[in-house]
Amino acid sequence: MDQIAKMRLECTEALKLSPYFKINLSAEASTFMKRIILTLTILALLLITSLETVASNTFQVEQGATLRRLRLPILMYHYVSELPPHADEIRRGLTVTPSIFKSHMQYLHDQGYNTISLYDLYDALTNGKSLPPKSIILTFDDGYEDAYTNVFPILKQFGFIGTFFIITSRPDANDPNYMSWQQIAEMSRAGMSMEPHTKDHLDLRQRDHDFLIYQMKGSIESLKAYTGRIPRMFDYPVGHYDAATLQVAKELGVWIGVSTANGDLQTTSGRLHLPRLRIAGNMSVAALASILRH
Ligand SMILES: [Zn+2]
Repeated sequence: MDQIAKMRLECTEALKLSPYFKINLSAEASTFMKRIILTLTILALLLITSLETVASNTFQVEQGATLRRLRLPILMYHYVSELPPHADEIRRGLTVTPSIFKSHMQYLHDQGYNTISLYDLYDALTNGKSLPPKSIILTFDDGYEDAYTNVFPILKQFGFIGTFFIITSRPDANDPNYMSWQQIAEMSRAGMSMEPHTKDHLDLRQRDHDFLIYQMKGSIESLKAYTGRIPRMFDYPVGHYDAATLQVAKELGVWIGVSTANGDLQTTSGRLHLPRLRIAGNMSVAALASILRH
């Protein structure tokens, strides 16, 4: 706005000068000068108009009134481990082996992908923050122990970051199949986003307000206590939510909610239920490349 004020002043000054030239110059020179001044005035006015247009767009951004949409893949992983003996179909569908996971990360690295956080995406959707080219978000659901033992070292190896959604009753119960609070805090300090996935991983649809507060706020508060950071992201168990769930998410100050809906179109208005791309059991690099191309 300073620039506009300055232009206005310069324009006014130019107009003030014109009588001076009229008095002191010959009639012919005076006409010539008048034309120059008129042209300059028109140019200055055009410039002011264009600056004001830019300024009003910026203003809209500052007010958060601008709705944005961008294509950005959010990958959804679950287990990254060897399959246990006699693994059922559900477990097979949720598991990629560490070596396949590493080949995925190698592929993303070789293709020039940049891992960003959901916080970066929130800034882009609400404040227009620019993101690096080929941005991608890696998410890992449920907080299994392998996130610490298998995923974390491989991400560090590639200089990548990830978002981990924790079912907080598991570390509370010291369940050995899930990450401990100590491991969760260590990953948070290393730059990973450790975010809530409720206390007990129960369906959040058709629940009363108290139930939603207990499950959602409870997991948010635990993460806050153990990591020292206020988590602003949320993952609905099995991707299920309804209007009451979204209302409580808003009340609790959630910035982004992720669902299990398939897609990569991220929008400001849909930020409480963003879609993701599911990584199927032992998905090959070629299959990963294929879902990223669509
Ligand atoms: Zn889950």
